[in-house]
Amino acid sequence: MFYHSLFYDSTYILVIIGAIISAIASWNVNSTFKKYSKVRNSRNITGRQAAEMILQSAGIYDVTIERISGNLTDHYSPNEKVLRLSDSVYNATSVAALGVAAHECGHAIQHQVDYGPLTLRSISVPVARFGSWLSWPLILLGIILGRMPLAELGIILFIGVVLFQLITLPVEFDASKRAIKILDGNGILGGEELTGAKKVLSAAAMTYVAALFTSILQLLRLVLIVQGNGRRRS
Ligand SMILES: [Zn+2]
Repeated sequence: MFYHSLFYDSTYILVIIGAIISAIASWNVNSTFKKYSKVRNSRNITGRQAAEMILQSAGIYDVTIERISGNLTDHYSPNEKVLRLSDSVYNATSVAALGVAAHECGHAIQHQVDYGPLTLRSISVPVARFGSWLSWPLILLGIILGRMPLAELGIILFIGVVLFQLITLPVEFDASKRAIKILDGNGILGGEELTGAKKVLSAAAMTYVAALFTSILQLLRLVLIVQGNGRRRS
């Protein structure tokens, strides 16, 4: 089959490597979160309470805290000014829950202080979405029709997606850095508890690194495929 020979070549190994790295990162964050979900914080504060305390101490009063279903679906939406905490964070009094809640507050604080990478990331969201939606069809179409500029345009769009994942890294690392500083500074967590929260946030940050790495491998593969097809036709 044409499609078969097109996308199941030797470069498929790059996809497999990427999938393995992503799976390890995802397993790691889930198991670390699970481990520290069993450790209660000594002050018995819930994720929601911690988020309220942190936002107030940062002078943020216009951000709503909501509950969201799902596992590790916690996020801060800059457009809506809503901080959403998942079931295992919102009402939970674990060290893991407080780490995640503080991390999301870190994003709200980034928004408040106009942290550059967050602004850049927010602007890039629609571009990245458009790129990841259109890049594969363009590349496929370019190869099938033998129109290499079309395939190259697809690759440029995919580079945009990779760049988006790259600017996500400072945003995520900075939010966790702020979270740990606040949890420590406000005396919400201390000692061993703080170490646990740090481990959860580091594991979460690694999933973003893994996602970037996986995309770079995919990009490399796409370039190899397009180059190979270009050469065969010329
Ligand atoms: Zn985050």
